[in-house]
Amino acid sequence: MVSRVIPVETFDLVIFGGTGDLARRKILPGMFRRFLSGQMPQGSRIIGAARSEMDSAAFRAMTADAIAAFGGKESHDKKGLKDFLQCIDYIAIDAKGDAGWAELGAMVRQDVVQSFYFSVAPAFFGDLAERLHRNKIANADSRIVVEKPFGRDLESARALNATLAAHFDERQIYRIDHYLGKETVQNLMAVRFGNMLFEPIWNNHYVDHIQITVAETVSVEGRGAYYDKSGAMRDMVQNHLMQLLCLIAMEPPSQFGADEVRDEKLKVIRALQPVEPQHIVRGQYDADALGPSYREDAENPRSLTESFVAMKCHIANWRWAGVPFYLRTGKRMKARASEISVVFKDLGHTIFEGDEARHRNILSIRLQPNEGIDLQVTIKEPGPGGMRLVDVPLDMTFADALGPDAGDVPDAYERLIMDVIRGNQTLFMRGDEVEAAWAWTDPLIQGWEEREDVPKHYEAGSTGPEDALMLMHRDGRKWREIKA
Ligand code: NAD
Repeated sequence: MVSRVIPVETFDLVIFGGTGDLARRKILPGMFRRFLSGQMPQGSRIIGAARSEMDSAAFRAMTADAIAAFGGKESHDKKGLKDFLQCIDYIAIDAKGDAGWAELGAMVRQDVVQSFYFSVAPAFFGDLAERLHRNKIANADSRIVVEKPFGRDLESARALNATLAAHFDERQIYRIDHYLGKETVQNLMAVRFGNMLFEPIWNNHYVDHIQITVAETVSVEGRGAYYDKSGAMRDMVQNHLMQLLCLIAMEPPSQFGADEVRDEKLKVIRALQPVEPQHIVRGQYDADALGPSYREDAENPRSLTESFVAMKCHIANWRWAGVPFYLRTGKRMKARASEISVVFKDLGHTIFEGDEARHRNILSIRLQPNEGIDLQVTIKEPGPGGMRLVDVPLDMTFADALGPDAGDVPDAYERLIMDVIRGNQTLFMRGDEVEAAWAWTDPLIQGWEEREDVPKHYEAGSTGPEDALMLMHRDGRKWREIKA
């Protein structure tokens, strides 16, 4: 197998919020792994910039600790770590004041690729963008990376887009949704658009329904107050689940380019129909032996915020008319498991006498755990004794066929940061996509806020409220099992 890795130019990556949780857990360990795999050209630098007063030596020590804690098996590479730390500097900076900006200006070079990762609260985005220009640090080719939450409704998302647009062109803005950086999500596109097999049956003639589940076992403990202002719809559906929905439902783009892909995703969001209230189930987890209830975690005994949501939606276009898309996501569920399943229709007729089972082809794309794609197919049960049919998964990840290193894929953040440096926006959300997603979710959220809709209880460690099961049962369908 010949692998083709697109080369990266020498860069300066400034991480605003370099001492924060995201930088320590994802960005710094991710960059270390890219460094080890030779993707950080000589002379490239990473500059931490945050409020804490510390020097570069202290930041390097903090980075080493973060890599030891979150760097995975590569964290044992002592020589690699020593070399990596030499590429790192730190500047104490005040996003809302003048401190540190002159020093940052002196350090960031104008003749290399400049990327500024805004790993800080969105309230600082405008301050950072403005100061990067006022201090003549950013230029017309600089890239900025911003994190979720990208607004909490359409109005705030528009305001945030306008703030960034005042200083940077859309081609310079990289809005991260780390689900798009997952290997399997990209493999989904390869499977869909790189094979003759699937595209002809990827429509309402052959697909019965599609389900997307993102189940988490964690509670909101520790960030309950923040989460309580958000909820599963804003925190997960508006961004991650909708992005997955777009990739599965979009028309084939003319090429795998940033605007071609994002244009098609936008069309899907715009074709989403409003969801009827009876097609949405909201839930809050109860206390169990392992932890408190949602309301206790949120420190809000009367909270009406959902820690779980399931819904049935429809896309109004020729391809998907009549095909339901079932989405569900929640905290404190049975297992940590994310999966997209394309469930094909039943056979119209069986020629096998005595076979009364319902055989269905199901293409399932697992995002976690064990990222992979498999296709459920029906075959003959081996052995004598007549024609008995059995459903088996056909593994389409083919790690064996691709060699021992095939499973060694970069983490989503690593891949996305390298795409920023390469200037490739394909796997990032465009401003109009984010706004369209809010335009679809806003009325749903407003509806239940106006009705003071009370979320249903669900047992911690379960699959969510009973009503979510009913949402499917009523249609003669069922959710796929949530398996660890
Ligand atoms: P954090 O609170 O751990 O860190 C915040 C960082 O901002 C710190 O480095 C702090 O020094 C810096 N900061 C605060 N005030 C500043 C100021 N006035 N000037 C300069 N720097 C200042 O936050 P986090 O969890 O790392 O999250 C960062 C951003 O990423 C947030 O927008 C968050 O919503 C988003 N995000 C985080 C995660 C995650 O896993 N932590 C996941 C998705 C999105």
